[in-house]
Amino acid sequence: MIFEEFKASLYGCFGQNGLSTLLNEENAEKLYAFANHLVETNKNVNLTAITDMNGIIFKHFADCAVLCSHINKGASVIDVGCGAGFPSLPLAILRPDIQITSLDSTAKKINFINGAAQKLSINNITAIVSRAEDFAKDHREGFDYATSRAVARLNILCELCLPLVKVGGSFLPLKASKAQEEIDEAQDAIKLLGGEIKKAYFYELAFCGETLERCIAEIAKTSRSLDKYPRMYSQILKKPL
Ligand code: SAM
Repeated sequence: MIFEEFKASLYGCFGQNGLSTLLNEENAEKLYAFANHLVETNKNVNLTAITDMNGIIFKHFADCAVLCSHINKGASVIDVGCGAGFPSLPLAILRPDIQITSLDSTAKKINFINGAAQKLSINNITAIVSRAEDFAKDHREGFDYATSRAVARLNILCELCLPLVKVGGSFLPLKASKAQEEIDEAQDAIKLLGGEIKKAYFYELAFCGETLERCIAEIAKTSRSLDKYPRMYSQILKKPL
C-alpha cells in the first residue's frame, strides 16, 4: 500500500473511533514505516498473525492508541509482555512525551523492537528481555503506569504488573470481551497487591465492517505491594491470587 492510501485508511479508522486528534503528518509517516517493517520482518520471524495494512491500522494501531488518553504527560510506562511492540510502539510514536519500557521474555521480539526503534528514530522506548517477575526484583514501584495486552488473565497479570507501579500510579490492562468476568475474578489479587479498581472503560472499536469489544481497566496503585510478590511464575499459575 502506498503512503497516501495508508494515510487515508489511518485517518479514516482513527476518525471513526474518536482518535484522529492523535495524528499528524510525522507520526502517520512513522506508523507507515513501522507497519511496513513489521510486515517485512514477519516474513522471516513470526511476530504477528495480522499482516494486511487495514488490519494493522485497526487491530494493532487503533486498538493500542486508545490508551493515549489515559496516560498523563511526561509519564513513565512499562508494557509487560509487549511481543512485537503492542501497545509499546504505537504509544511511543503517538506520544513522544512519554518514556516507555517494553518488556518481553522472548529475545527475538525485543530485538525486533530495538531494530524498529533505531530504524524509525524512536527515542522514547527502551526494550528489555526479561520475565516480569524477575524484572520486578530491581524495578519495584518504578513506573507511573504499567500496561499489558493479550498476555494473561487479569488476576495473573496483576501480580506481574502491580508491583512495578509507583504508589499514586495506575495499571491499565487492555482487555477484550469477558473483561468484567476477569475483573470480578481479580478482586482479591488487586487488593492484595495494593491496588483499587477506579473504573472499567467498556467501548467498541469499528472499522471496515468489523467491530471489536474492548475494555481498559484503570487500577490505581494505592499502597505498596508486599515484597513477596510477584512470586515465581510456576507459583503464580499454580495458586493465582
Ligand atoms: N502484547 C503483545 C500484543 O498484544 O500483540 C504480545 C502478546 S503475546 C500473545 C504475549 C507475550 O507475552 C509473548 O511475547 C510472551 O513472550 C510474553 N510474556 C508472557 N509471560 C511473560 C512474563 N512473565 N514476562 C515477560 N513477558 C511475558
